[in-house]
This record gives sequence, structure tokens and C-alpha cells, in this order.
Amino acid sequence: MWVWMEMIWGGLIIDGEAGTMLYNMRRKQKRREIFERVEIGEIVPTGQGIGELADGRKAFVWGALPGETVEARLTKVKKSYAEGVASEIIEASPRRVEPRDECYMATSPWQIMDYDYELAAKAEIVRKAFRLQNVEVEKPEVVTDFNEWHYRNKMEYSLYWDNDIFSGRGGISLAQHARGSHRKVPIGQSSIERSEIFAEASRIIDELNARGEEARRYQALIMRCNQGGEVSGGLLENGKPHPVLAELRDTILDREYSYSPNGFFQINLPVYEMALLAIREALAGWDGRMVDMYSGVGTIGLSVANGREVTLVESNAAAAREASRNSEGMANARVVLAKSEEALEYITGDVCATLDPPRAGLDARVVARILEVLPPRVVYLSCNPITQARDVAMLLSAYKIALVKAFNFFPKTPHVENLVVLERE
Ligand code: SAH
Repeated sequence: MWVWMEMIWGGLIIDGEAGTMLYNMRRKQKRREIFERVEIGEIVPTGQGIGELADGRKAFVWGALPGETVEARLTKVKKSYAEGVASEIIEASPRRVEPRDECYMATSPWQIMDYDYELAAKAEIVRKAFRLQNVEVEKPEVVTDFNEWHYRNKMEYSLYWDNDIFSGRGGISLAQHARGSHRKVPIGQSSIERSEIFAEASRIIDELNARGEEARRYQALIMRCNQGGEVSGGLLENGKPHPVLAELRDTILDREYSYSPNGFFQINLPVYEMALLAIREALAGWDGRMVDMYSGVGTIGLSVANGREVTLVESNAAAAREASRNSEGMANARVVLAKSEEALEYITGDVCATLDPPRAGLDARVVARILEVLPPRVVYLSCNPITQARDVAMLLSAYKIALVKAFNFFPKTPHVENLVVLERE
């Protein structure tokens, strides 16, 4: 009934903008939103500001900085805590800056702070992650190339369907998922991905609209580009197998790698190269063999092997195949298609191990194997300091920390890449 009346008002009587207002009003009523005033104490490792609700419950609020008082729209209320998004900044931090993108909350919620503050906050996140495991580390250096915008070489977009009735626009537009809900928000501009990607994605959307297509047919649009600005990618259709996308090639520290736009590949290559140089340095003076666990297409092991014998262990068949191709011509490299926890025999007392696991961190069997055979050096790169700290805390029974260094692969987001080098005690 409501919908019907709105369709008549929105479509026939009231113009587009007022139609949108009505539509939003209905959404608000339906969701019965709760707003609360929160004073923010600090930033938590997941990226939100934390404060307290009137009843003493902890509140994790996106878009809010330490020292700020905000009004938060609560998106989740649990017994012991709540989550929300700042809807109004009542008292702003001096470190707050105007976000560039309307859609920043969906793609890069840290657009709201100045860059020095971001770097300092990331060092603090690393230190806190280790403190949670009772491991005290100095605030690490956070390495950056100071390229804060248009750094991502990959983006996955949703498609948003505007049925024309309320806004008068109509058709498909690029979208992202709103934080704290399953809603999609259309995006008109986005400043974290390389501009070649956004331009090509927009061109594909224009084409779909010219053909009169509807968004519901598609699950996502994946776009990737290499350092030279060559773009590859495509639409993923609902209920259809993923298309084979044209491979891309990139040079990392003078070696060429090929990879698929669908598979895992580092998204900020200039800063990744800085991390590889640090790994190279950590292995300097070691003449023995190496094993690269969670190797992906081989970028760590092959870049830092430097003539040493290296074994790459990777569980994804497509990535392992690429790794084999990428290691052609390197007689000392071999690729093992296996889960790290099922390829423990490659971790021995006379290899140095590089580890770069997904967010979940190391399998407990990998940690146990390291503690059993004691490789002389363990180099652990991680995109999640929380699980990394958990694993490192266990390894400290036989190792000491020789280096902690963070890398800002993901400006304007709370994500931080952290490198830890362990040496045998
Ligand atoms: N070092 C690579 C890839 C890191 S991402 C790079 O920098 O490009 C983590 C990789 O671990 C992915 O390629 C993923 O396919 C792989 N992986 C995930 N679980 C694994 C497991 N249990 N054993 C081995 N590899 C795994």
C-alpha cells in the first residue's frame, strides 16, 4: 500500500528529488533508527572510534576520531556493545579533514583524518595488537611512498539499479556496499583506485545502460590494472561460472610476473616493493635454502631468492600454476601445490622461512612445526597484525624479534601490513 502510494506520488505528482526524500523517509521509519551521543576515546584496530553509550555499553563508531563527540546512528546493538556510524560531528578533532568521496565510508573510511595522523594511528594499531598478546614492541615505523590517492590496482564494484521512479535518473550505476548494512550505495566518484580502473568501469556501465540491461543479472564488476595502466576485468554474472579474464603482467623489483585479475595479487606495488627490499635485507648474509609459504604467484620468494634455492608453497591451483610460470628460467625455484599445514616437511632447521598468510594467520600446525625444527630466521609479512601477534607470541618461546616494520599498502583505510623478522634465540 505504502509503496503504491509512493509510486504514484514519486512517479506522477512529485518531482524526482522530493520523491527521493519521501523514499528516504519511509526507509528511516521502517528501520526505526537509534541515535546516541558518544564521546570517542581512541581508535580500535578494526578502524572505528570507541566510546560509551549512556548505559555504559561500549560503542564502536565508524567515522569518528579520538577526542570527538559525535552523534552515532547505531547499526547493531548487542548485550555488551554496539556498533554505529557517525551521523553528526558535534565536536571535531583538529586532525579531521574533509573526505574526498561521497562514498568514502564504504570504500575507505579513514578519508576523514590527515595523513600523518593515519600513519601514527597504524603504528599504534600494531603496538596494541602485540600488547594484547603481552608482547611489548616499540611503535614501528610505518613506511609509505606518500601516494595517498588512486593507489589501488584492483576494485570490485557492485551494480546499483535505480528504477527511475524516485530520482529520475534511472539505469545502472557503479556501487559499493554501505558499511554496517547490506544496502548498496551508488558511487559517482572514487579516489582510492587507479583512475584507469574507474574510467573503464564507468565505460562498461554506460554500455550496459545503452543496451537497456538491468543490474540484477550481475553479481559484481571486477577491474584490475597494471603499473602501466593496462586494464583487465569483467562482469561476474549471477549463477554463471566466472569468466576467464585476460592476464596482466607487472614488473616487481626487475622480475616480471603474470597474474589473473580474479586471483590474489598485491594491490599497491610501489609500497610492496619497499616491503620486499626490507625482506631482502632481513635475509642478507643467509646462504642456505628458503621456503616461501602462502606464496601466491611467487612474488616474495622469487624476488628475494637472489640465487638461493627456494620452495614456493601455495594452496590455490591457479596461483601455483602462475608461480610455476613466473619461476621459469630460475633453476633453483620449485613450486609445491599444497596447503602450508600439509607441506610441513619443507620447513626444516636449515631453511629460512618467509610467511605471508591470509588474514586468519598461520595454521597452528605451521607454528608447531617451526618450533620443532627451528629455522634460523622467520620472516612474517601479515595483513592482519592481530593474528600475526598471536602467532609471533607463540614463536617467542624460541625466537627473538629482530625487526617490526609496518607498510602503508592501504591509505585511507584502517588496514596495515606488518613485517616481523624473527631470529633464533
Ligand atoms: N605472498 C603472496 C600471496 C599472499 S596472499 C603475494 O604477496 O602475492 C596469501 C596466499 O596464501 C594466497 O595466494 C592464498 O591462495 C594462499 N593460501 C591461503 N591458505 C593457504 C594455505 N593453507 N596454505 C598455503 N597457501 C594458502
